[in-house]
Amino acid sequence: MRRPIVAGNWKMHGTRDSVAKLIKGLRDLALPSGVEVAVFPPSLYINQVIEGVGKVIAVGAQNSAIEPEQGALTGEIAPSQLADAGCKLVLVGHSERRQIIGESEAVLIRKFAAAQACGLTPVLCIGETLEEREAQKTLEIVGRQLDSIIDALGIEVFANAVIAYEPVWAIGTGLTATPQQAQDVHEAIRKQLAAKNAEVAQNTRLLYGGSVKAANAAELFGMPDIDGGLIGGASLNADEFGAICRAAGN
Ligand code: PEP
Repeated sequence: MRRPIVAGNWKMHGTRDSVAKLIKGLRDLALPSGVEVAVFPPSLYINQVIEGVGKVIAVGAQNSAIEPEQGALTGEIAPSQLADAGCKLVLVGHSERRQIIGESEAVLIRKFAAAQACGLTPVLCIGETLEEREAQKTLEIVGRQLDSIIDALGIEVFANAVIAYEPVWAIGTGLTATPQQAQDVHEAIRKQLAAKNAEVAQNTRLLYGGSVKAANAAELFGMPDIDGGLIGGASLNADEFGAICRAAGN
């Protein structure tokens, strides 16, 4: 039985003040006990959030360095430093970092491995652009992104990782994949894992991300291969985020 996860990606949003308000809102939520809840604040606020939210909500980083340990790498944060701060997870391969920052597969492989070496759980984000979907290339693209990690690091790394399917055209656009569209991709991802290791495939949590809100969460999370969500914009509102977490618990 896979325990659902709902994770909030705050992206580059927040000030000390707004983060304090969001923390208060999160502390006041009645969260379902069967759901793992995590938030990914900007790195600057990670300590504030860890101190503020308590143990019920895990805290993750939106990015981490290609090297596991601290050293001469200006501007980066080592996964060992994130672990030392109390982080549990890290996003790897979010489409904004792939597309806007230009992170390559080679870089993502190193980030994934470095994060795991420090005990962090990587949340590997994969997904196709609108152009690729319209060209019927969704499964090819998503399959290639997943294979890049499997080929380099082995299938066993997914025993301690989460995968988030996030169609790029649905991120921050208000457009959501239909539950069936999302399920089709999730099923293909699980089959791809199963071709290498059935047990890993059965146990790996597959999240959907892309304009999830309280209004559409229950339908998406009701699909057999969707084990929760990675939530961007809607995670900045504690009440909305709480409602999405409860949808995953039903
Ligand atoms: C995201 O950034 O991972 C995301 C899914 O964003 P949104 O929910 O705003 O589409």
